[in-house]
Amino acid sequence: MPLKKITIIVPAYNESKNIIPFYKAVCSITDELTNYQWDLLFVNDGSTDNTWIKIKELADKDHKVKGVNLSRNFGKEIALTAGAEAIIEDTEAVILMDADLQHPPSLIPELIQQWESGYQIVATQRTAIEYSWLRELGSRAFYYLMRLMSDINLEAKTTDYRLLDKKVLNVLKTFEEKTRFFRGLIDWMGFRKTYVNFSAPERNNGDSTFKLRDLSKLAINSLTSFSLMPLRITGYLGIFVLTSTSLLMIYMLITQFFAEQLLYTPLAYFVVFNTFLFGVVLAAIGMLALYIGHIHTEVIRRPLYIIQEQVGFD
Ligand code: UDP
Ligand code: MG
Repeated sequence: MPLKKITIIVPAYNESKNIIPFYKAVCSITDELTNYQWDLLFVNDGSTDNTWIKIKELADKDHKVKGVNLSRNFGKEIALTAGAEAIIEDTEAVILMDADLQHPPSLIPELIQQWESGYQIVATQRTAIEYSWLRELGSRAFYYLMRLMSDINLEAKTTDYRLLDKKVLNVLKTFEEKTRFFRGLIDWMGFRKTYVNFSAPERNNGDSTFKLRDLSKLAINSLTSFSLMPLRITGYLGIFVLTSTSLLMIYMLITQFFAEQLLYTPLAYFVVFNTFLFGVVLAAIGMLALYIGHIHTEVIRRPLYIIQEQVGFD
């Protein structure tokens, strides 16, 4: 029986100093796992340094190393997608890993073990806090909002370091949406999933290329592609303003009707009426959210459901 093939997908952006140490660290683990056949697929995400040359050198020396060179920097999420789509049919599972050794290869045996015991997604969660307090705070806020606002249950502190069964990967390849947040999509998919903990070490060489701006953009994209809550909130606010100003106006008119002298200045009526009109606008935006929601679900063309398995169909 041929050995099962597992492919490790590694997005790399300006990681020339890390490629070789990463390769060595991974090999020291995979060489021990002789029950499997290994592939190491690097996706060069438009690096401006020698990353691609390093990858090519490795590929020349070692036939299990493969490389995909993107024409420019597209960002990690897209680099991962490119990697997933470049996978050859005979791969039974993939492992997504960063090139900077923040995802310790020593975890691979455990990921495999969980996979062999029947889990189709083995995700990892980092236990130690290794990022700046600002990023940590942002990350917490993000997960909190994501859980609050969308109907997918995103576990906090999970990373992109994951093992995915072939079946999960094949479904992922059918996704056509352009704005993508890999982890979110995977969590949306369901399947049998488990977690493995690890404490993330410092980045090996160089600095994290993710600027706060990129991360905020990713967070906003993720939130808006899984939830219309921000727009709906506007709608609720509109309804609140509408009802409160209407009540106030009715109150003003009634009290004035039974009063002997003028109770309110014309300006007061104007202000209340104007606020009422604001309420109309906000409520209308909320209505738009409902329509946009329909358009959104149509255009992202996400599969309606994913079949876990079938019996008796042959
Ligand atoms: N990366 C990428 N494209 C980018 C930015 C990053 O492929 O535009 C890769 C990078 O080479 C690394 C992984 O994504 O393998 C994680 O990047 P980084 O370590 O900078 O992020 P952090 O660990 O701070 O989340
Ligand atoms: Mg990193």
